[in-house]
Amino acid sequence: MPSTAYQVSAPFTRDDYGARMARAVNAAVEVGLAGVIITPGPDLVWLTGYRPHINERLTMLVLSPDQEPTLLVPLLERGDAEEAPGTALTSIVDWMDGSDPYEAARPFLRPDGQFGISDSAWAMHIIGLEQMLPGLSYRALTDCMPMLRAVKDVSELARLEAAGAAVDSVYDEIAGSRFSGRRETDVAADLASLMQQHGHEQVDFTVVGSGPNGANPHHGAGERVIKKGDTVVLDFGGLMFGYGSDTTRTVSVGEARAEVRDVHEVVRQAQQAAVNVVRPGVTCQDIDRTARKVISEAGYGDCFTHRTGHGIGVTTHEPPYIVEGEGQRLVPGMCFSIEPGIYLGGRFGVRIEDIVTVTENGVRRLNNTNRDLRIVE
Ligand code: ZN
Ligand code: ZN
Ligand code: ZN
Repeated sequence: MPSTAYQVSAPFTRDDYGARMARAVNAAVEVGLAGVIITPGPDLVWLTGYRPHINERLTMLVLSPDQEPTLLVPLLERGDAEEAPGTALTSIVDWMDGSDPYEAARPFLRPDGQFGISDSAWAMHIIGLEQMLPGLSYRALTDCMPMLRAVKDVSELARLEAAGAAVDSVYDEIAGSRFSGRRETDVAADLASLMQQHGHEQVDFTVVGSGPNGANPHHGAGERVIKKGDTVVLDFGGLMFGYGSDTTRTVSVGEARAEVRDVHEVVRQAQQAAVNVVRPGVTCQDIDRTARKVISEAGYGDCFTHRTGHGIGVTTHEPPYIVEGEGQRLVPGMCFSIEPGIYLGGRFGVRIEDIVTVTENGVRRLNNTNRDLRIVE
């Protein structure tokens, strides 16, 4: 385990959560909202440290400039809610089974206000609130305040760095293990247990795309038996100390054919070129364009079928998205993936992915394993 592990495992403080809630209120005011409504999920975890079981009972945090932060919870969850560090700064209001949760929410909402609301809020709750207060309107949180969680502070960065170092160790170990003759699911199971051994509390994905399966960017892992001559895309990540990891390397089982080596080199150069342009002030789409240009000029433009990257934090996919049309400019502390790929349908695929963070004058990679085409057994 990395030596930073002890420090980063120290929990966030009340002050950390207080600062985040203040940041959310300011961001809401700036875009003309009456406030924000946060339902269980990553936003609530980030703002309060509270991680309730997600179920049909209404739980919501209301943040607005008019009042102190208020967390509405089902009565039976009250004890758990009170234990989360950030909720010490909120007023907790409960409602009991058999009563109307939307009536309980009414005093904390402005009847004619527009609120930002968590992307993953349940439709039944939005409809319930709407029936009670028809004058309320809503905007999806990532639509109106997409960068709320995007700029990481030092303690968040330390966690992302530790998670990155852990999956780097996982890659080095898996690349030394046997591939040929084993099923993709066997290698995926090894990846999952290695991630846990290296400190991850949650495994989110273990892509093992061998041969033609590698040409499907979101292939998971199947029953296919890996054989000599296969190219294998390995893309894995999860959460460590509550923060995400996500890295991809492509390996060759035995010596690679010339075409595989060529395609891999194009992807490596595209990824490097994109990393090289990262610095404050550059737009997200510039990074995407840089990677795409290298791949297009090599004649594989049609085979790079997804955006270049996504933000990472308390989730493994979040803003900023590194994609055409995203004019957001980079700010120090943003963390995201750079993961160009080339997918040759029915044959093989290659992807290389690192998490990077924007620094004061450039970029730092949080994944640092070798990016050459690695030959495995
Ligand atoms: Zn993905
Ligand atoms: Zn990935
Ligand atoms: Zn990714």
